[in-house]
Amino acid sequence: MRFFIGMLAHETNTFSSIPTDRRQFEARDLRYGGELLEAYRDTGTCLGGMIGAAAAHGITLAPSLAAAASPAGRVTKEFYAEARDRLLADVRSAGPLDGILLDLHGAMVVDGIDDGEGDLLEAVRAAVGSLPIAVTLDLHANVTAAMVRAATLLHGYKTYPHVDMDARGREATERLRDVVAGRLRPTVAFRQPAMLPPIAGQLTARGPMRRLYDLADAMERRPGVISVSIFAGFPLADIRDAGLSIYVATDRDQPLADALADELAETAWTHRREFLHTAVPIETAVARALAADGRPIVLADIADNTGGGAAGDTTGILRELLRVGATDTTLACIWDPAAAAACVAAGVGATVTVDVGGKVDATHGPPLSLTGRVRAVSDGRFVHTGPMFRGLAGRLGPTAVLQVDGVKVILITHRWQTLDLEMIRFVGIEPERERILVVKSSIHYRAAFEPIARDIIEVDAPGLSSSNLTRFTFTNVRRPIFPLDNI
Ligand SMILES: [Zn+2]
Repeated sequence: MRFFIGMLAHETNTFSSIPTDRRQFEARDLRYGGELLEAYRDTGTCLGGMIGAAAAHGITLAPSLAAAASPAGRVTKEFYAEARDRLLADVRSAGPLDGILLDLHGAMVVDGIDDGEGDLLEAVRAAVGSLPIAVTLDLHANVTAAMVRAATLLHGYKTYPHVDMDARGREATERLRDVVAGRLRPTVAFRQPAMLPPIAGQLTARGPMRRLYDLADAMERRPGVISVSIFAGFPLADIRDAGLSIYVATDRDQPLADALADELAETAWTHRREFLHTAVPIETAVARALAADGRPIVLADIADNTGGGAAGDTTGILRELLRVGATDTTLACIWDPAAAAACVAAGVGATVTVDVGGKVDATHGPPLSLTGRVRAVSDGRFVHTGPMFRGLAGRLGPTAVLQVDGVKVILITHRWQTLDLEMIRFVGIEPERERILVVKSSIHYRAAFEPIARDIIEVDAPGLSSSNLTRFTFTNVRRPIFPLDNI
């Protein structure tokens, strides 16, 4: 068997003022052909799982584009057209194919195209006719009817933090193989309850997503069920189809798919209020961290998560830590290429004064003028140690650690969410020894940091990934929808 394989991944925060252009993809990941296989083989990613499963089952892969950028504003028309056309050209010139494997995110919004993946999948479908298409999607996918129609099978991550990406990649490959061999003929059901769950309420270890996935796991064990995906959705995208959705695939049994999807949609709706989330105000959170016994205490800056499209450069928590004289404290990481460059240029040991953060938009706090000592510099290269992205190379660009009194501030050049302990260790800081660790992440940090954290405090600071959705003005999402409307 021979499968086409490609990746185009972006989670678009339509409230962000940072356009996602070609440079943003180059900074994170933009590869072609055989390079895709080299970079992702044996990594904890969807592509890693697809490559592994293909090898195990003797499937040949025809690799195309792998493109991913850190979450930010709408993807530019130009880059989207380039990526789509490259994928389509590669599909047409790939020679004989039995199936298409795509690793997409599912919450990509393009300038002028609200349903990025729907548009892409319809174009691929038009190019390949009846050839089966299997797609992995993030748990944050804002799934649309167009995506469901164009794909043969969708496989959503079942975890948040996303620690099952390689498992989903393997599953997508194996089910596609079953479809090609005629062992499965998918019948699918799709439901969109009127729900827009905030990010901080979407973790799958407990709460409403656990309840839904426990139910889904039991359904998947029933004969005739191929897969069940519950997409929590990405709420910071003001598009019609943002929000939670349910996707059930069965084998030649439409009534069963419909019945299971209805049951899951009803359960989600019944428990919708459990998704609501309250974080702790900055001053209270910092005081609580200082008063705590044991270390490290993690202060999660959940609203300034670059992984949710926030800038990653707000300084509210840092300002408070400096005001109260916190010690043995590390802040990971502030996205500020100019401050990082100034520190790198000054060199290790130098004393510098720089404006840090607050540079992307004026609504989430001003820059902070800091005078400190450059403690370390780095080219920003590291390898993820997991659980997420295990084995995958990471690039933060020119990086510096600025020590200001008792606080170490990690300044980075490429935006990337603080989700791996290596993002602190690689500049010579042992996270376990710190009294306070500030991480700019909503949920993903939990996979790596929960095992070492004495306690975790979710902070209600300003930012574009806030779980307080009343701070945003929505005009395009379908209404009424909970919790924007009290239904
Ligand atoms: Zn996600």
